[in-house]
Amino acid sequence: MQKSSTHDLSVAIIGAGMSGIAAAIKFGEQGYRDIVIFEKADRLGGTWRENTYPGLSCDVPSHLYSYAFEPNPNWSHLFSPGAEIQAYFESVAKKYDVERLMRFNKEVTSAEFENGRWHLTMHDGERTSADIVIAATGILHQPAYPDIDGIEDFAGASFHTARWDHSAALDNHRVGIIGTGSTAMQIVPAIIDRVASLSLFQRTPQWVFGIENPAYTEAERAEFNASPAKMKALYDHWAYRFNYRFGRAVIGDKVIADRIAELCLANLDENVHDSELKKKLTPNYVAACKRLIMSDEFYPAIQKPNAHLVTTAVEQIEKDGVRTKDGTLHKLDVLALATGFKAHAFMRPMRLVGRHGTTLEQAWAATNMTHRSISIPDMPNFFILIGPNSPVGNFPLILVAERQLDYIKQLIEPVRTGQCRAVAPQRAATEQFQQDVREAMQGTIWMSGCSSWYLDKNGIPVTWPWDFDRFEADMSAPDFSEYEMIA
Ligand code: NAP
Repeated sequence: MQKSSTHDLSVAIIGAGMSGIAAAIKFGEQGYRDIVIFEKADRLGGTWRENTYPGLSCDVPSHLYSYAFEPNPNWSHLFSPGAEIQAYFESVAKKYDVERLMRFNKEVTSAEFENGRWHLTMHDGERTSADIVIAATGILHQPAYPDIDGIEDFAGASFHTARWDHSAALDNHRVGIIGTGSTAMQIVPAIIDRVASLSLFQRTPQWVFGIENPAYTEAERAEFNASPAKMKALYDHWAYRFNYRFGRAVIGDKVIADRIAELCLANLDENVHDSELKKKLTPNYVAACKRLIMSDEFYPAIQKPNAHLVTTAVEQIEKDGVRTKDGTLHKLDVLALATGFKAHAFMRPMRLVGRHGTTLEQAWAATNMTHRSISIPDMPNFFILIGPNSPVGNFPLILVAERQLDYIKQLIEPVRTGQCRAVAPQRAATEQFQQDVREAMQGTIWMSGCSSWYLDKNGIPVTWPWDFDRFEADMSAPDFSEYEMIA
C-alpha cells in the first residue's frame, strides 16, 4: 500500500557516528517520527569512539568541526582532543534526544528491497523493515592491516591504531609504528617522551604544514558563551580557509597549492636541523596530494634522541621486532600499525540487494558509482552520507554531511507526500555525473601521481573534483529530472 503521510514513513539509519546523529536530528526536525539508528558497536561516536590512540585530535579546527546547528563555545583547543570530540557527539545526541532512537550492538548484515520497502537483517538474525535507509556508515572504519610476512609472529603487543590496546605498556618500552599518515604523525609527538625508543617505519614522507594548537583561554570561552555571533564568525573564518583556500588548491589552483608547498618546505627547513634527516623527510610528490599533515609537533618529536626514522623498507616482522631489507632487526616491545583504512568499503560487507535483484557488488563492480555521492541506480530510497565522490579531502566532513542531508530530505519529499513510493537516480544521469567527475578529476592534485586512500582500485580519486560553490549549488536542491519516481 502506498504510504501517504510523514508519520507512516519509517527511516532506518545505519551508524551512530557524526553523520548518523545528524541524520536522526534533521529527519526528526522534518517531522519524521519513525526513526531508528542501528549501530554495530555498544555506543555512539563512529571514528571518535573507535580511535583512542594517544595524541588523537582532529586536523579541522574544532569550531568548524561542529554541527552548524550546534556550535560549542567550550572547545578547549583550536584542534581539540579526540575524547572531547566524542563527548561533544554524546552531548548533542542527548540534547536532541536522539540517543533513544539508537539500537546498539546491531550490525546490519543485509538490506533487501522488496515490495517497495527495505528489509534489514541484523547479525543476530533480527529482521526489520523500513521505507528509507540512510547509510551513515562512514569511510574510515575498517582497519587496513599491512600484508607483511611474520606479522603474527611478533611476541610483544601489536595492534592497529584504530584498535589501540591501552593495556600495552608504553612507558620506557621500545615502540615501533608502521606508517606515516595523519594517525602516526599525531601519535609520535604524544608518546615520544614516554617511550625508551620509538622507531617510525616510513614508506613515504609527508608534507607537514606547521600550525600551532593553542588552548582557548577562559576569557575566550566566556566570550563564545556570551556571543554566538563571535562563534559564527570563527566558523566562517575557518570555513573560508578550508572551503575557498585549501578546497581550491586540491582541485587545481596552482597558486594556492604552490603557497602551501612553500610553507611546508619552510616548516621543514626551519625546524629540522640534520641534513640527512631533512632529506629523508622531504616528499617527492606534490603537496596535499596525500592528506596534508597539520602539526608543529612532529618535527621536534622525530628529532628527539630516542626517535628513529627508519626509511629502509620493511622485510618482515619477527618475534623480537621488525627486520628491514638491509638485514637490521629493530627490536621492539610494542608495534602499532598506523596503516590506515579500507576506505572504499563504505557500507560493505553489508549485503545490499536493490530492485530487480541488483546487488551492490554488481552495481559497483567497475567502480563505486553513485549519483551526486548520495544514491545508486536500482537502490530506491537508499541514501549514503559521505559516500563515494563526496568532498572528503576538500571541505570539513560535518559540513558535507549536513549539506547532503538537506538534499536528501528534499529528494524524498515526493515519497513523503505520497506522490510516489520511492526515488532512485536515473542510470543515464548517474553515468553522466560519473563522466563529469572523471573529466573534472584530471586537473586535481590527487591525480598528480602520489598514492593515497583517496584513490580507488582503478587509481581514480573517489573525491569531489569541484569547488565549494559547485557543491553548495548541487546540494541546494535536487533536479528531479535526474531521478526516477517509482510508483
Ligand atoms: P593513511 O593516511 O592511509 O596512512 C597509512 C600509512 O601506512 C601510510 O604512511 C602508508 O604508506 C603506510 N603503510 C600502509 N601499508 C604499509 C605497508 N604494508 N608497509 C609500510 N607502510 C605501510 O592512514 P591514517 O594515518 O590512519 O589516516 C587516514 C586518514 O584518516 C587521514 O588521511 C585523515 O583523513 C584521517 N585522519 C584524520 C585525522 C585528523 O586529524 N582529522 C587523524 C588521523 C586520521 P604510504 O604512504 O607509502 O602508502
